[in-house]
Amino acid sequence: MEKLSNPQKTIEVLQKYNFSFQKKFGQNFLIDPHVLDKIIAAAEITKDDFVLEIGPGIGTLTQYLAEAAREVVAVEIDSTLIPILEDTLSAYDNVSVINEDVLKVDLRKLAEERNGGKPIKVVANLPYYITTPIIMSLFESHVPLKSLTVMVQKEVALRMQAGPGTKDYGALSLAVQYYASPYLAANVPPNCFMPRPNVGSAVIRLTRFEETPVQVKDEKLLFRLIRASFNQRRKTLQNGLVNSQELDFTKEQVAAAIATLGVSPSVRGEALTLEQFAALANALSE
Ligand code: SAM
Repeated sequence: MEKLSNPQKTIEVLQKYNFSFQKKFGQNFLIDPHVLDKIIAAAEITKDDFVLEIGPGIGTLTQYLAEAAREVVAVEIDSTLIPILEDTLSAYDNVSVINEDVLKVDLRKLAEERNGGKPIKVVANLPYYITTPIIMSLFESHVPLKSLTVMVQKEVALRMQAGPGTKDYGALSLAVQYYASPYLAANVPPNCFMPRPNVGSAVIRLTRFEETPVQVKDEKLLFRLIRASFNQRRKTLQNGLVNSQELDFTKEQVAAAIATLGVSPSVRGEALTLEQFAALANALSE
């Protein structure tokens, strides 16, 4: 079948099935073949790979994945897209579609059954309304992951790869960088999608670490400290932690823990590296 990745073919399929876009599902379909080539290249897909696609839409990216990978499973929430996908993917015998909310699928079981429990690659043009929950649930659940190559809002991509002391640095940067190393593969303007989103987009690859770059005794405490530090950006780290609803440390405990880092007592959370947050968590869990 002719590829869907151009505006004419996309319109033809949408009209044939009388499809109407649903805003609540974050539907912005890709219509630019160069962007699709870039996603496949960034994901470094080979014929050995099992790929999970989240939100195939009408199957535009799925067709490219099917040609590059050994096997593709695509999870789509919108049931009106299922008959369309049956049609647009009929030429490929290595693709299956699951009609479900990806947050409800047992992906660990899927990886076990279809890939012998070996790390899978996730590739997606993500629905922007749930980008962060999808990415964090993939990292936090114990799905074996090699990498995630995803289209996200440009602003979110910048936050994921930001380092200390920059304006984009925050809880999301640290959460992502605890699990994976980010690589910004491409910037993608609104005119590459139908309908056009109101924001710029970017393709980012997150390669999961085999071992986390820092070791903490209490992972939950690490993330509570990170959230508390960035919840109150204008405050010093010490005040942010002492005043946090999520934490229960005295001013003296916090001051002593900050002192072990060898930084000024008036330091702000946004200046700390992941290593320093980890050291802080370890000092406070003693
Ligand atoms: N992959 C297609 C493309 O690039 O043209 C479509 C991408 S579109 C940005 C996002 C897709 O995710 C839509 O098809 C939407 O229906 C689907 N989707 C939204 N929420 C979902 C969820 N919770 N689980 C699975 N799919 C979802």
